[in-house]
Amino acid sequence: MFDLTGRRVLVTGGSKGIGHGIAAAFAEAGASVAIAARDTSALQDAVGRLDALGPGRVTAHVADITSREDTHRMVAEAVAALDGLDVLCANAGIFPERSLIEMVEEDLDGVLAVNVAGTIWAVQAAIPALTASGRGRVILTSSITGPTTGYPGWSHYGATKAAQLGFMRSAALELAPRRITVNAVLPGNILTEGLRDMGEEYLATMSRTIPLGELGTPADIGAAAAFLATDEARYITGQPIVVDGGQTLPESPEAVLPVTP
Ligand code: NAP
Repeated sequence: MFDLTGRRVLVTGGSKGIGHGIAAAFAEAGASVAIAARDTSALQDAVGRLDALGPGRVTAHVADITSREDTHRMVAEAVAALDGLDVLCANAGIFPERSLIEMVEEDLDGVLAVNVAGTIWAVQAAIPALTASGRGRVILTSSITGPTTGYPGWSHYGATKAAQLGFMRSAALELAPRRITVNAVLPGNILTEGLRDMGEEYLATMSRTIPLGELGTPADIGAAAAFLATDEARYITGQPIVVDGGQTLPESPEAVLPVTP
């Protein structure tokens, strides 16, 4: 699809779901890919799958991105393993459901720690290597939930995904002199292990709200992320790109037409 041969890429949360789709898109495009997450066995399984996709190297790094220290160690390990870094995909995130009325400190702290602090620590740690690259790219995985839409039970999550865009804009300005671009992909409902846990009824309801008639795939998000890493995308920075099958377009349910079989 894209030729990213020789590019060195780190994907946080690359062991599953959207992050795995992003890592796969880069591996297929010829890049060397480091993936990071907490669960060692899921990382090892993912390395096995990614290794078969392209000529680049694939390495795995265990880390909890809620810790600044652990995140900096993980990025240093990935940079050493790949001999540099051209692209950081700050993708790892969690989306626990909790109503506003029931929310306690642990709920809010947990989602802020992974989705906001974890994103910021990963980008901070990658700055020296991305600067040395000369064509550094940061690609955040935000969401339509928060920046564009809302959903009962995800007010804290939506706040973190909107916060990522606030971070993106100032980071894009700070890093522009280093020739590093900072952009975000905003997925709609993407069929991942995490989303499958929401249950069949949720998935069926969501599909009916999507003008293109189906949930997206991790590969759809991987394609957008890989595009943002190409030389052709070098002049795009500080921008959100929505990849949602048109889910955020309809004014009312009647605006979603039946999909032709
Ligand atoms: P997922 O299948 O649950 O995968 C999440 C990934 O993040 C896993 O690799 C997980 O590995 C890692 N992770 C979670 N907490 C971590 C931590 N503290 N430190 C390091 N790694 C951690 O979720 P997903 O659906 O692919 O979501 C990925 C991103 O896309 C998130 O930022 C989410 O907000 C966003 N998103 C998803 C959807 C969707 O429809 N699925 C829609 C919009 C946006 P470990 O658990 O082993 O650490």
